[in-house]
Amino acid sequence: MKAGADRSVLIAGGGPVGLFTALLLARQGIDVRVFDENAALQEDPRAATTHPGTLEILGAEGLVEDMARVGLVAPTFQFWDRPTGECVAEFDHALLADDTRHPYVIQCEQFKTATLILQRLQALPNVEVLFNHRVTEVTQTDAAVTVVVEGPAGVQRHTGSYLVGADGGRSVVRKQCGIPFEGFTWEERFIVLTTPFDFAASRGYGYRSYFADPEEWCNCFKVSGKGPPGLWRTVYPADPRLTENELLADAAVEARLQRLFPRGQPYEVVHRNLYTTHQRIAKTFRAGRVLLAGDAAHVNNPIGGMGLNGGLQDAGNLGEKLAQVLLGGGPDALLDLYDLQRRTIACEFVQQQTIANKQRLEERDPVKRRRNLDELRAIAADPQRARQFLRGTAMLASQRRAAALTLADLGSGDAGHGVQGEARPVTGGEQCR
Ligand SMILES: Cc1cc2nc3c(=O)[nH]c(=O)nc-3n(C[C@H](O)[C@H](O)[C@H](O)COP(=O)(O)OP(=O)(O)OC[C@H]3O[C@@H](n4cnc5c(N)ncnc54)[C@H](O)[C@@H]3O)c2cc1C
Repeated sequence: MKAGADRSVLIAGGGPVGLFTALLLARQGIDVRVFDENAALQEDPRAATTHPGTLEILGAEGLVEDMARVGLVAPTFQFWDRPTGECVAEFDHALLADDTRHPYVIQCEQFKTATLILQRLQALPNVEVLFNHRVTEVTQTDAAVTVVVEGPAGVQRHTGSYLVGADGGRSVVRKQCGIPFEGFTWEERFIVLTTPFDFAASRGYGYRSYFADPEEWCNCFKVSGKGPPGLWRTVYPADPRLTENELLADAAVEARLQRLFPRGQPYEVVHRNLYTTHQRIAKTFRAGRVLLAGDAAHVNNPIGGMGLNGGLQDAGNLGEKLAQVLLGGGPDALLDLYDLQRRTIACEFVQQQTIANKQRLEERDPVKRRRNLDELRAIAADPQRARQFLRGTAMLASQRRAAALTLADLGSGDAGHGVQGEARPVTGGEQCR
């Protein structure tokens, strides 16, 4: 690939979002060069839940069957009242049979999804994925965009017609473009403990189970790991007054798991992690020839599993529009429409939903708590309401909402202003104003 070729696209970040964007562009004949600062794909346990709205996009690339093979298919999810041990509601994606070709969730660890995408990229002649290459600077003119990259061969400059910033929550690309990342950081960190203990056989937990508890909410979900019997990841809020060492000490970890499900013997813990969680959205997803996608554009808490899903949906949207612009037929305004559609969904849906999910699980007021659980029970008992609810959690409704926004909605042509005017502000944040 020639640097500076008219239709080449540079991508900062070889996470799942950068790689999927590369695949969609390269499939259409566009030259793509991806830079990632790591030496290889990272296997740290992060996202796994892939919703029907995302499977619809991945399916076009034949990824769904492969993900189901290396992951787990989860048709249902559950809400539990942790203090009483009652399963309050179970939702079955089978109710979405008329809404999607994929009426189920696939639990596929994100490094597996990224590996499947990378394997496809490696079979294409017009893509380079350069690991050990860190993007440090971004400049642009009316005609091109240039990045400075530090790699094994030293400092280099690469020029392309567009740059996609898919370089994660701390995005250098976003910072180089001076785009604010508005919102807030939760006071408490989230703790993730992974164990092979089989919560389904012992306790009846579904592969995705959410536990409401005013003292200590919990998410519990299964991944296939390196094969049967698989692994269970449990996620909890961490006391902000405690240090990382205190929270991750063997005794503290053991006590936490025994509180979730007391058993006569110690838990085997194969992974423990503490991480800071944010609710933030970039003020714009477009700055001239630079487009942001994935965590570089938006971050949220993981309750409901919407972070990576939103990023892969960004990639699907951007890959299609950028190809239309580069291959001749599409107006430049399509890239403003990308900003409008995806930023609207991030504001109106993903931020609102993930904050509401957290508030529902941690609610302390007994009256509100009972009302929340009663409402979940009532929704689950009514197939029509359950289907509507599932269309939201499965990220199908948000996909349809994005598709309903058209070039005519761009107004002044400044997508950022259009979104600010329309979106409802998120409680406690500034990101959608
Ligand atoms: C514990 C946890 C659980 C989660 N669970 C879920 C879930 O169930 N469902 C869900 O949808 N989401 C979940 N998420 C969120 C999900 O992990 C992220 O949304 C996802 O990783 C975003 O993908 P990405 O490709 O945008 O960014 P990343 O995966 O962060 O990839 C960014 C890439 O950019 C590279 N990079 C960074 N800076 C540079 C630079 N300057 N130059 C070159 N390369 C650079 C990095 O090396 C990295 O490979 C979870 C997150 C965590 C932490």
